[in-house]
Amino acid sequence: MIIGIPKEIKDHEYRVSLTPDGARTLVGLGHRVLVEPSAGDGSGFPDEEYRKAGAQIARDKAHLFAEAELIVKVKEPLLEECPLFRPQQTLFTYLHLASLPQLTKALLDARVLAIAYETTALADGSLPMLKPMSEIAGRMAVQIGAHYLEGLHGGRGLLLGGVAGVAPAHVVILGAGVVGSAATQIAVGMGARVTVINLDLERLRALDALYRGRIVTLAPNQWAIDQTVLDADLVIGAVLVPGAKAPKLVSRAVVSGMKPGSVIVDVAVDQGGCVETIRPTTHSDPVYKVDGVLHYGVPNMPGIVPRTSTLALTNATLPFIVRLSSEGAERAIRSDPALAKGVNLAYGTVTHRGVAEAHGLRF
Ligand code: NAD
Repeated sequence: MIIGIPKEIKDHEYRVSLTPDGARTLVGLGHRVLVEPSAGDGSGFPDEEYRKAGAQIARDKAHLFAEAELIVKVKEPLLEECPLFRPQQTLFTYLHLASLPQLTKALLDARVLAIAYETTALADGSLPMLKPMSEIAGRMAVQIGAHYLEGLHGGRGLLLGGVAGVAPAHVVILGAGVVGSAATQIAVGMGARVTVINLDLERLRALDALYRGRIVTLAPNQWAIDQTVLDADLVIGAVLVPGAKAPKLVSRAVVSGMKPGSVIVDVAVDQGGCVETIRPTTHSDPVYKVDGVLHYGVPNMPGIVPRTSTLALTNATLPFIVRLSSEGAERAIRSDPALAKGVNLAYGTVTHRGVAEAHGLRF
């Protein structure tokens, strides 16, 4: 099969959908991998590395789309890319179509088979291609929080781990799923005092057993959340109710009562955030203050660590790309229930209930 790897053109998107090692695997299986010129530059993978891996560098984006049977991307296509698709082509990428009506229509008109990373789900309901980005964002949340706690960056002037004779900072993590667990690991590693609050007690039991007294775990009753957050130096928002807006666990009144110069990193901002005063920010202007408390609300945190993110993404996507290319997309979907759940659009028809309901379309 001919697999196309276009350059991402969304603002501040430096990831690429396949590493040179990934390309080597596909070429080794007898496929042709076409890469758009400089597609890997933002992640530190120059064209030369793809060539050495046996991939070919396409003349330009238009030629790549004209030749490839399977287009593998990172982010959803921009509207200007949609006329490049050919009917029957397969698109494999993060799509988030439920919130993108114009793109949904453009891809329906293009009559492609569109398979979304974010709805490809294993039998236990886990989302293998979302997980690596949550792991990265969770780990980043602590280092970003530590950065903004520095006096130079507007924070309280605290070192997360303290020193001998001086107490460490208190990190409060709301949610103990993938993001929350990754944040816990780094916060503990940096020597902070850590409290984790989560709805599901089994998750708390697992963390409690792992850290054996090194962290405090709490069930989320509102009074406990309020008191704990009021004592925090760094709050990390990491809750998720799948398919719904994040529950607001921290009220404006509690934010106002927090210590001046403390920091909130609300990773759940992509689902509306779990802090009443959070709003989405950007990598170029990431923080603002409310009542002296710094707020960080970037919804695409992994975008600024593109090399790690690209490597982690390829680890997760490559087994599916191998199936799609070796079996052919339609057979792969029939034989792999996880991939079947990823199919959002099939040749002009919406095939995903959530996407159809979001746009009032027939399913
Ligand atoms: P997850 O499903 O693994 O974990 C969510 C946790 O929240 C679960 O353990 C659940 O029990 C808990 N929870 C739900 N409601 C709660 C409540 N009322 N009180 C306490 N805990 C509650 O999800 P995840 O992968 O960790 O993702 C968390 C959020 O981070 C999502 O919104 C995700 O989209 C987002 N995210 C953002 C970025 C970014 O760049 N900002 C990157 C990756 C993920």
